[in-house]
Amino acid sequence: MIIAMSRVLVTGGAGFIGSNLCERLIRDGHDVICLDNYFTGSKDNIRHLIGHDHFELVRHDVTEPNIVEVDEIYNLACPASPPYYQYDPVKTIKTSVMGAIHMLGLAQSTKAKVLQASTSEIYGDPMVHPQVEGYWGNVNPIGIRSCYDEGKRCAETLFMDYHRQSNVRIKIIRIFNTYGPNMNPEDGRVVSNFIMQALRNRDITIYGSGLQTRSFQYIDDLIEAMVRMMATGDDFTGPVNIGNPGEFTMLELAQKVIDLTGSKSKIIFKPLPLDDPKQRRPDISLAKEKLGGWTPVVNLDDGLKKTIKYFEKFV
Ligand code: NAD
Ligand code: UDP
Repeated sequence: MIIAMSRVLVTGGAGFIGSNLCERLIRDGHDVICLDNYFTGSKDNIRHLIGHDHFELVRHDVTEPNIVEVDEIYNLACPASPPYYQYDPVKTIKTSVMGAIHMLGLAQSTKAKVLQASTSEIYGDPMVHPQVEGYWGNVNPIGIRSCYDEGKRCAETLFMDYHRQSNVRIKIIRIFNTYGPNMNPEDGRVVSNFIMQALRNRDITIYGSGLQTRSFQYIDDLIEAMVRMMATGDDFTGPVNIGNPGEFTMLELAQKVIDLTGSKSKIIFKPLPLDDPKQRRPDISLAKEKLGGWTPVVNLDDGLKKTIKYFEKFV
């Protein structure tokens, strides 16, 4: 299949997901502009692309407008790890809301398609399980996670309103916990914490009882879904869940990481952060139907093995 080359803007392109996406888009023959303020991302993630004829790097903050002629925009700029998004919560919500307004304005003026990296966090601590797109969620509007959850919810509202009011060509994906190479080893999320602790033979920190669940998706499965979503017709806007329905407790995850690394680490328990969701699992029927039979193909053991290999260089 021949895919016509597009000019593609990736905000948050030096981050974990963004850098993997830039690499895929370059491989597919597109002209990629990677925009980032390096708050949680790193030039190391995209260093191998610098100097490539079809790759440009721009230091910019999405809370300020920018103008660039593009055909497609993937809007990923936003810290995703709780310790980082809670570090400067006002900045986090500004990034989601003003970043969305600026990217939607850019899409409107250039007639570009724009894809929003939304999140399973918009379901909050869900009362419906597994989560379907029609569920409106159970989110605390005034808690310590609200800067992220409500920022992302507001961004979805903005996307839908620009679409209804001004016919902007939008796509919304709700990403469930994703892991893999190019994650910041110190970013505080559970997969990176557990692997780094195991590789260093340090205590593995479980927050709360460890019986809370998450569904973990390997990065390659997400990137495939993102590219397919962008390629869907203008009549399909989403939101659509993108995740791996395999559901694990944090205790199960810790044990898997210990087994796969052969670590001597012990499991210890720490207090559960406020408003930590008790369960999460995506219903991915809509994604399967609309994204050409897309389905996650990397199971947790195989994905963890690849991620452990990547993290070994940081020990
Ligand atoms: P990440 O922290 O690795 O990447 C975010 C990137 O955005 C970083 O490079 C950071 O420097 C950049 N950034 C932050 N604020 C910015 C600003 N104001 N202007 C410009 N750049 C800015 O996180 P990630 O896991 O790669 O997440 C990427 C996107 O996907 C985020 O929008 C996140 O909310 C969303 N998402 C991720 C997950 C996941 O499990 N990884 C799940 C749901 C949603
Ligand atoms: N968690 C944990 N130990 C850690 C880091 C996180 O037990 O060292 C727990 C956290 O409380 C949550 C789950 O793992 O219940 C997933 O946390 P993460 O920050 O990765 O993502 P999110 O809570 O945003 O889904």
